[in-house]
Formats: sequence, C-alpha cells, structure tokens
Amino acid sequence: MVHLSGTDRPTLPPRAASAVDAPHDHLLVRGAAAEYADQLTRAVAQVAARFERVDRPTSGATQAELERLVAGVDLDRPVGLDDALRELDEVYLEHAVWFHDPGYAAHLNCPVALPALAAEVVASAVNTSVDTWDQSTVATLVEQRLVRWTADLVGLGPDADGVFTSGGTQSNLQALLVAREHAAHRLTGAAYEPELAAQLAVLATAETHFSIVKAARLLGLGSGAVRLVATGADGRMDPASLSRELGALARDGVHPMAVVATAGTTDRGCIDPLAEVAALTRAHGAWLHVDAAYGCGLLVSPTRRHLLDGIEHADSVTVDFHKSFFQPVASSAVLVRRGEDLRHVTFHADYLNPREAVVPNQVDKSLQTTRRFDALKLWLTLRASGAQALGELFDEVVDRAGEVHRRLRRDPDFEVLAPGSLSTVLFRFRPAGLPEAVADELNPAVRQALLEEGRVLVATTKVDGRPWLKLTLLNPQVTLADLDAVVEAVRRSARQHLAARAPEAVAV
Ligand SMILES: *Cc1c(COP(=O)(O)O)cnc(C)c1O
Repeated sequence: MVHLSGTDRPTLPPRAASAVDAPHDHLLVRGAAAEYADQLTRAVAQVAARFERVDRPTSGATQAELERLVAGVDLDRPVGLDDALRELDEVYLEHAVWFHDPGYAAHLNCPVALPALAAEVVASAVNTSVDTWDQSTVATLVEQRLVRWTADLVGLGPDADGVFTSGGTQSNLQALLVAREHAAHRLTGAAYEPELAAQLAVLATAETHFSIVKAARLLGLGSGAVRLVATGADGRMDPASLSRELGALARDGVHPMAVVATAGTTDRGCIDPLAEVAALTRAHGAWLHVDAAYGCGLLVSPTRRHLLDGIEHADSVTVDFHKSFFQPVASSAVLVRRGEDLRHVTFHADYLNPREAVVPNQVDKSLQTTRRFDALKLWLTLRASGAQALGELFDEVVDRAGEVHRRLRRDPDFEVLAPGSLSTVLFRFRPAGLPEAVADELNPAVRQALLEEGRVLVATTKVDGRPWLKLTLLNPQVTLADLDAVVEAVRRSARQHLAARAPEAVAV
C-alpha cells in the first residue's frame, strides 16, 4: 500500500523560470514574482493531479509503514522543489485522509469552499499578522466587518464584538476566561484571583464538548467546577435540571460563573433549548455561553435558522466556520454581546500596542499575538458565492442525515439512536438476538477494520457507556447511494466478524 515506486508520479509542467540556487532565491522578495507564481502553480498542479486520482478516504497504510516512510526522508539533504513536491506526494498526499471522499463519514471535517482556498494563497503570500493596526491596517477592518456580520446573524446587538480564533477550543477558552473575569468583578470588584476558584461553577451537560472542561482547568477552576446538568432522552439540556442545579449552587453560596449551552452537540447534533436556558441563566445572574461550533451553519440556513432561536440572548458565542461554513482549517470566532468585555484579555506592551494607542489593535482582543488573517477566507467566500449558498449546502447534509436515519430505522440489522437536529447519525450493528455484550465488542472492531481497509471511515463514540458507530455528514456531494455503500461496508464487516466468532453468535 505504500507506493514509492514512482510509476504513478504525477508529471509536472516543464520549468519556465530560472533555476533557484542562491539562498535568497528561496524567499518571496522583490523580483521574485515570477518564481512565486511558478512554484505555487507547481504545487497546485501536484495537488490537482493527486485529487483527480483519490478514490478512497485513505490508503490504509499501517502506522508502522507510515513511520518508516516519514523517518526515511533525509531532512539534511535538500532536493529542490520539484523533487520535494514529488516526495511529498508519496509521503503525504498518498496517505492523507481525504474529507471530500464519499467514503469519509467520520468527524466534523468538511470539503472546503474553493474561494476560501484562493484566499489562503493570498493571505499566506502577504503574510499579514492581524495583531496590531500597523501590521494589518485594512485586514483589521476586514476582520471587524466579518465579526460584525456574524454578530448580526446571531442577533447580539449593537455593542457586540469578537475576534477570529484558531478553533472552537480556543473560542470556548476565551469565552470562559471573559466569563470568569466578569464573575470575579461582580463578586469582588477586581480581577480573578485563585482564592475565588471554590466559589465559581460552570454548568454544562455531559454532551458538552470536552474543551469546556479543559478550559475550566486551564482557567484555574477546581476539578469539580464543571457541574453536570442532566439531559432529556433527546440529548438536550433539561431546563428543570438546570433550574435545580442553579438553585443548589445558590444555597451553597457558589456563583454560577457560566452556563454553557451547546448548539449542537458534537455527537448527536442536539441543540439545547436556548431560550429556556437563557431565561434561567439570566434569572440567576449567570453568563450564558452558547457553543455553536458545529451548528453555526444554521445561521445562514434558508430553512432551519429557527433551530437557533434564543441564541441572541447569549453573552458569548463560539462559531466554527471550519465546520459548517465549509472553510479550511482554521477559521473560528468568539463573539461577545458587550465588546468591552474583551478588555479582560487586553495587555499592553510598549513595543507593540502601547496603552496610549489610538488605533484599533486586534491583539487587544485576542489570546494570540501573531495571528493569521483567517478571516480573509470567509470574506472571499461570501464575496464569490454568498452566505445563502453555504446555508443551502449545510441544509443538504442535514437533510441527508435524516434520510439515512429513516433507512437505518427500517433495517433489522441495525439499531439507530433518535436523530438530533444536525448531520450526524448514531447507529450500531445489532440484529435481533445478538447479545448486547457481543454488539459492544463488534461495533468498535468493525470501525477499526474499516479504517485499516481505508475505503470507508466512520467514527465511534459511547452512549450510556455503550459503543455506537457515528456517521458525520458534511459533504453535500455525497448521495444516499454513497451512504448506502458505507452502511453495506459496515454490515459486511460486521457479518465477517460474527462468522469468525463462536458458533452460538453466528446463528444470528
Ligand atoms: C468541534 C467542536 C469544538 C472544538 O472546536 P475545534 O475547532 O476543534 O477546536 C467545540 N465545541 C463543539 C460543539 C464542537 O463540535
């Protein structure tokens, strides 16, 4: 499976420009425009040639094979761009995991919008760092326009602000940091100090993304700071349970630093009842953070925007454009209702953003300093294709998930979990009579076997301690027939596993 023969090497166009040899010939400097265009064209041709041949989500090479492949590259002996690109094709592209392939249905990875890829080229060539005005000028304004545009979609009001981040994990961390400072000022009139940790709690459900618990730890809150609110059978936060937990905290003299609602959850795509949660949160003087890393695509959906009703009450919101807005990694933002709350991440340095500065410095609002101009990708996507197109694409995958769910429900070989609101389907191979314990062992084994074959990639997760398989759909090109093929691959593999087991299990 590891091809190093060179027989299927893509052919690159003949070199036009002069050979590159002097050290500074490797830099994009004055006089290098033609060389820049030539090298980038070669890289793009290489990717396009590979893309045309990709017919499975991954090669299925083992970890040991890949380790040998990477270790075999001599980093101290440069070979020139053409050979380096050919080598890259064999080492990386041949074995990469391709999210656009119809056999890929594992995690929250999307095929990417072409205008966004064009923007990547632009942003990386200019190499803008969106930290201070003097390093970014108009790029700061572009990012601010997009933050405003997104805040308006959410409905956060005129004082909202935010910043692009590296992902939902960072957005959640920053939101909880701001919530912590907000709580500290409320309780003590001053910034957070570690002594306060015992007096603060974060309320979330067991379905909440793990980055929330991680953020709480990074923020110095105790291990018990995240209190779990129960979910209903539909996987959504139960408002009655939230009310009870808030009441219990009040009795214990613990301040609810933040309530985290998810729209929707990573596994089941469940959207917590945002309006009810917001009302309870407000009544207890807590901060409402809505993690819409996955569900943010609904903001531009022509038919499903109502599923996010209530999100406009949030104090902070996480959106991952690199999930349901079809943007390349990384593209995420954290938004806050009151822009002034971002001052909690503002620190000044004389060499960068002095206190007396009168220009907008995005570094004042970010956990990062040097920061990619990721906003440009969304900008070019909106200008080239528009938000409605993105919303329609997300709608398509949500529709498709519903169709697959209905098919699986009628299939006697599978159990299927009640559908969420987004584009995941949780199912497991368990024909009538197959003992639960056997199914528990079988389903993860099927997933592993499929990964080793490399033709169909699904995910696994646990629900109430039992393993389930998960399809995550984010590719609108994937048809119901493609997904039938994925399900058939699971069935075939499961039956093979069963046949290899003890006779009493084979009878099913
Ligand atoms: C994916 C996800 C995150 C984490 O986002 P990253 O961009 O992977 O850091 C957070 N919350 C939810 C609900 C998610 O689905």
